[in-house]
Amino acid sequence: MGGSGRDSPRFNCANDGLRENLRRLVPNTLPPRMPVIFSGIQPTGTKHLGNYIGAIRQYVEGQDRGDPAIFCIVDLHAITNPYDPAELRRSVYDLTALLVASGLDPARCVLFRQSDVKEHTELCWLLASVTATGELNRMHQFRDKSVAQRELVSSGLLFYPVLQAADVLAYRAHEVPVGEDQREHLELMRDVARRFNSRFGEELLVVPDHRIPVVGARIMDLQNPDRKMSTTGGSEEGTVYVLDEPKVIEKKIKRAVTDADDPPRIAKDPAKPGVSNLIDIMAVARGVSPEQVVADLAQARGYGDLKAATAEAVIAMLAPVKVRYEELRADEAALEQILASGAEKARSIAAQTLADVRRVMALGPPPS
Ligand code: ATP
Ligand code: MG
Repeated sequence: MGGSGRDSPRFNCANDGLRENLRRLVPNTLPPRMPVIFSGIQPTGTKHLGNYIGAIRQYVEGQDRGDPAIFCIVDLHAITNPYDPAELRRSVYDLTALLVASGLDPARCVLFRQSDVKEHTELCWLLASVTATGELNRMHQFRDKSVAQRELVSSGLLFYPVLQAADVLAYRAHEVPVGEDQREHLELMRDVARRFNSRFGEELLVVPDHRIPVVGARIMDLQNPDRKMSTTGGSEEGTVYVLDEPKVIEKKIKRAVTDADDPPRIAKDPAKPGVSNLIDIMAVARGVSPEQVVADLAQARGYGDLKAATAEAVIAMLAPVKVRYEELRADEAALEQILASGAEKARSIAAQTLADVRRVMALGPPPS
């Protein structure tokens, strides 16, 4: 899970350059501080390699940099698509076990279930007052997911980014680790925070930065390498699940779509999305740069070698997670306890923000 060294940062952050410049120019105004880190992940389906690489491994990296680092299982987002209620409860435990198995330590971060902290839904409604419907209608995720819906397109799907803004802004988070697909929602969230602050005359909400990995921010479906690997709407054979058996992982990667270049060429190139995707996956799994992967495979005889090496690296990365997962998943009471104590910590932070928001919006009795 390593990076590609000091000279090539592993993450892109919206305001990194700005903050560093300010620190250099006016050293005392912006002391280095530990950021509040927040991210949410849906308890839908089984999490896949894209989630693991784009999001979960960043959470693990962030838990000692964040003060606090807060990770939320967003069950309220999951209900924006058709779902089975009995399965949702199970999926929340599945994901809790998976996150802990991946390296999140409930003693070093705040891990909780979104619906346990009612401040999220309240803030969502309050932020709706400074969110334009036109902006929501334009979001790519809304467009893609509403087209895919055969029955009811829920208004929750349209409102998804407002709830997501509330999730982050309730904790005054500085940094939001996400995959590339969430960039647009993060921009909206930043606009909402700025608009709220300017409308109500106080710098009350923090405008958060995204944190998107430089390599692995958009892992592609192995069968359709022009589409991201996805929980809803991806192909089964093209999606590697974190908990897939090693044999299954090997089979899926060995059947990945590449290209018909003759002779085969192992290189990162937009014209070669399948091969580029495998190179990125292997780079992350081995903890080296994509350039290093290409150099290591200079003697490879064809795409078969690339696939075999990628499968081996991915299995080595995921196999220990599966073993720990099986142990943790067996004890639902312990998982519930992790979520309950996380919710308590989360509530104490979010309640403070909500009190401030209600005050400036003139809701409830006047402050004494
Ligand atoms: P859906 O397709 O239903 O939106 P999802 O697979 O995107 O589901 P989410 O729970 O919405 O899963 O996303 C959790 C995190 O994983 C987000 O930070 C998201 O940016 C990241 N992520 C999702 N897919 C990928 C991918 N293919 N590559 C890298 N990161 C990803
Ligand atoms: Mg998503």
